[in-house]
Amino acid sequence: MRAAIIGAGYAGMAAATELAARGHPVTVFEASRTLGGRARRVESHGYPLDNGQHILVGAYSELLRLMRLVGANPDKLLERRPLGLVFPGRMQLAAPRLPAPLHLAAALLTASGLSFGARLAAVGFMRRMKQAGFRLAGDTTFAELMAQHGQHASVIRYLWEPLCISALNTPPQEASAQVFLNVLRDSLAAKREASDLLLPRTDFSALFPEPAERFVLSRGGEVRRGTAIRAVDWTPYGFQLEGDASGRSYTHVIAAVAPYHLGRLVAKLPRLQPVLEEIGRLDYEPILTAYLGYPQPVRLPGAMVGVGGTAHFLFQRSDDILTAVTSAHGPHLDLPHEALVARIHAEVCGIIGETPPPAWSRVIVEKRATFACRPGVRRPACETPLANFYLCGDYVASDYPATLEAAVRSGIACARLVS
Ligand SMILES: Cc1cc2nc3c(=O)[nH]c(=O)nc-3n(C[C@H](O)[C@H](O)[C@H](O)COP(=O)(O)OP(=O)(O)OC[C@H]3O[C@@H](n4cnc5c(N)ncnc54)[C@H](O)[C@@H]3O)c2cc1C
Repeated sequence: MRAAIIGAGYAGMAAATELAARGHPVTVFEASRTLGGRARRVESHGYPLDNGQHILVGAYSELLRLMRLVGANPDKLLERRPLGLVFPGRMQLAAPRLPAPLHLAAALLTASGLSFGARLAAVGFMRRMKQAGFRLAGDTTFAELMAQHGQHASVIRYLWEPLCISALNTPPQEASAQVFLNVLRDSLAAKREASDLLLPRTDFSALFPEPAERFVLSRGGEVRRGTAIRAVDWTPYGFQLEGDASGRSYTHVIAAVAPYHLGRLVAKLPRLQPVLEEIGRLDYEPILTAYLGYPQPVRLPGAMVGVGGTAHFLFQRSDDILTAVTSAHGPHLDLPHEALVARIHAEVCGIIGETPPPAWSRVIVEKRATFACRPGVRRPACETPLANFYLCGDYVASDYPATLEAAVRSGIACARLVS
């Protein structure tokens, strides 16, 4: 058996790790020189930044397990903080170190900036959802779910909506209520640690894909960086990959590329046409990340701060670098970058007081950051109509929206199907 994995994002490297751990040599092909795909390191102004700010939550159990397996210690590489959300001067919520579900009830009931009625309605909503097993009879939009359950405008604005848009990367009026509930079930409503925020202390290539590469190499596998596969062909001897200089045949192929890169790759495999048609119906949403490098130290009142303006969230990247993130589409995408940075800087000043403008900035717009997670969205399975050809990635069928954990779980699922 010889498996080829095309794409070294989190999904591809999870598949490679799982196969290597099971004693199967794999060859990973990655078009870029940097591993990590949409969650990869981007050097800028002498700093190792990321293609976009990412965070993890404690519920990412499979990514955390694989990190440990490849020798990337999550306790060192991630800063674990109990669930907390702060919109300075407007709302603050913090979960005490109590066992679940008391931690969440206490966080909701003691949140400042929300009326007592709003807090009670939020607790009631969580209780009803738990009783229903976080299952809806039929999917609807997040906005409709909030209306059906009488959630107050303040709690929607400062709690549910920020959670929805950052997890599903889809505007609340369009986002799938069922996928939102899946996220609540496995984070806020699960054991206390699942709702912890895990903030990176390193870049996202170093967090998992690079240690995973070392693990794969140490078990006889290969990782070919800077090698784009142009097409996969099926022959009686196995799969052959255009762009693989070795000319070798593979018994199994795992395509771990983003959905919009699959079409060209499988153009010579007519059995995959129905899968491509399904993928062709996916829409995508952008994510904007702006790095602001200040000439002096700047300090936010928390490592992650809600803004709800041009920036949705601000992060303290280092003493003098702040990161702003805005999920999904919106008018911010029409702004020239200087105007956008000026607005975000004004929002920073609104939080920390007047401060000199950034000395440099870097704006990254990932136009197809994730698929649009709408009610009833159809996602392909790992297994395809072509034997021994598998798909993995954050868009593959799963309970989760397009996240690192969804990508990793799909990679593991493919590896288990192969071996
Ligand atoms: C800005 C931004 C912020 C995000 N924030 C978060 C967050 O906070 N938390 C979270 O959990 N998720 C977040 N996500 C989502 C997360 O990044 C993705 O779900 C995840 O990285 C997808 O991984 P993947 O392996 O499925 O795909 P990708 O990362 O797209 O990997 C595919 C890989 O395939 C390679 N490739 C493509 N074609 C070829 C070819 N022909 N030959 C060889 N290689 C090829 C690509 O170069 C790429 O490396 C964010 C995404 C973005 C863009």
